Amino acid sequence: MQQRIKFLVMDLEGVLVPEVWIAFAEKTGIKELRLTTRDIADYDQLMRHRLRVLKENSLKLADIQEVIAGMEPLPGANEYLQWLRQKCQFAILSDTFYEFAAPLMRKLHHPTLLCNSLVCDDQDNIIDYKMRQLDGKRHAVLALKQLNYEVMAMGDSFNDIAMLREAELGILFRPSELVIKQYPEFQVCTEYQQVMEIIEKEISGNN
Ligand SMILES: [Mg+2]
Repeated sequence: MQQRIKFLVMDLEGVLVPEVWIAFAEKTGIKELRLTTRDIADYDQLMRHRLRVLKENSLKLADIQEVIAGMEPLPGANEYLQWLRQKCQFAILSDTFYEFAAPLMRKLHHPTLLCNSLVCDDQDNIIDYKMRQLDGKRHAVLALKQLNYEVMAMGDSFNDIAMLREAELGILFRPSELVIKQYPEFQVCTEYQQVMEIIEKEISGNN
């Protein structure tokens, strides 16, 4: 049987760039903004909490964008993507928002990104968010499989688990101890080099 072409999907924050909300929490000194999908598995609950804290502190979209503009990709991330571009097709599947991601995408040389969007009022306050699709990461993997790709997935947290499960190969990259403990079925990598070795092996057709 002919081998299917491999496609890699991966998360953004915690995998290629630092966590945006943690960076913003550090900049503003607001501890309540430090919570991420690693702490609260329910994304809507987490986002409602964040929007409430922003409102309480009169913080606007531009305040967050300013912090993001100063962020850099994780060390080695760009070299890893550069290697990947020569190896297989890939896309980034993220729960972040296009309004946040733009400066980071520039620094990663504009990879394909599927994510969500924010709703702001005319005062630049973030009042809501729009998930492009519920369970979007998993649906993206499903769609790729329907296009007859063999999907590999790489993520770091709870919001990646459905994507990892749907994929033919799931890699946890620098996950928390809690995630490792709850999902022992996935391979764990702490360095890009390890991920590259796994992908290389998959692509070179060991099946
Ligand atoms: Mg993440």
